[in-house]
Amino acid sequence: MTTFNILTLPGDGIGPEVLAEAVLTLKQIASVGAYCNTPLPEFHIEEALVGGAALETTGVPITGKTLDNARKSDAVLLGAVGGPAWDKLPHDKRPEQALLKLRSTLGLYANLRPVRISGPLLAASPLKREVVQGTDILVVRELTGGIYFGEPRGRQGDRAVNTEVYSVTEVERIAYRAFEVALTRQKKVTSVDKANVLESSILWREVVSQVHKEFPEVELSHMYVDNCAMQLVRNPRQFDVIVTNNLFGDILSDEASMLAGSIGMLPSASIGGVKNRAGKPAGLYEPIHGSAPDIAGQGRANPLGAILSVAMMLELSFGLSEAARRVERAVEAVLEKGTRTADLAQAGEKVTGTHEMGEKVRVELERL
Ligand code: NAD
Repeated sequence: MTTFNILTLPGDGIGPEVLAEAVLTLKQIASVGAYCNTPLPEFHIEEALVGGAALETTGVPITGKTLDNARKSDAVLLGAVGGPAWDKLPHDKRPEQALLKLRSTLGLYANLRPVRISGPLLAASPLKREVVQGTDILVVRELTGGIYFGEPRGRQGDRAVNTEVYSVTEVERIAYRAFEVALTRQKKVTSVDKANVLESSILWREVVSQVHKEFPEVELSHMYVDNCAMQLVRNPRQFDVIVTNNLFGDILSDEASMLAGSIGMLPSASIGGVKNRAGKPAGLYEPIHGSAPDIAGQGRANPLGAILSVAMMLELSFGLSEAARRVERAVEAVLEKGTRTADLAQAGEKVTGTHEMGEKVRVELERL
């Protein structure tokens, strides 16, 4: 039987709390593998420090050894990094640097963030039921370019500089990802930019339009980012695939997360051109939320975004779609039964803790 190596990086704050539930769920799915259509491989899971936890022990947010280990793994599962203890550190020493290092070292240029509203959570969204019902969006965010990486950057006396840079190649490869994935969905791509103001966005629009010529069956529209921010809350159902740059994608996907009721619900996958031993992308999977210092250590975090990240990993890095669907169905079943962590609960509803939520998902996994 094939064994796949998975590196887990729990990180800081609620990262270790939600990742513990994700890992238990992965182990559970491996143990009930016999019920899946596809025979499951064995998963060898190794853990390492990242972010503030790594800084405290090793002096750096991620060591060369951990980066090496990540490079050799078939997939990486991450919790979250950062927190107030490290907020005063210079930019290049902060825990968040570990994420940028992982993304650039592993060449993870495409970040996929699905936003689906689960039926039982319609009441948890701050938007009206009739607005959010049926929302199913995939945000495809460029992850290794743009203003987070551009040079020059830094302080120049009383000025501070960051630079937005995109090359044709960088835009092309993310555009291909977006059109390819749109073919498996509703065949609609909205490319989001600020081409009325930014040179980098003019290039973005030109290149996306060029790549589109190879995908005539996909409908392409362009939208300015400010309009997109408004349209997401006005009529989210108009979107299928949104493709956008690093900064806009970061902001828009957090906004879109509220359509789903809570940022704690949303998983993500970061993939690039590197293939693993399954011949699939060797991706990094993580919930989209941060380390949530305000609730860390209280057992109140919603672990479902992390658990759904395991589903994305099973599907995209290992081709185990049936196992992925099982995890998603188990999460849906738990929500249908009214189980709610604090972020999802309405006034008067019983609140379930992080570990108990994970346990309930695993009970459903056995049952389904
Ligand atoms: P955050 O996502 O950590 O928290 C925002 C709000 O959402 C908080 O009120 C928090 O309690 C809530 N929340 C987040 N995840 C939740 C969950 N699973 N269950 C219930 N509630 C949840 O964002 P922030 O407060 O802006 O950032 C906190 C730290 O996390 C910062 O240091 C930031 O740099 C870092 N961060 C890390 C990542 C990452 O590791 N990928 C992403 C974003 C932010």
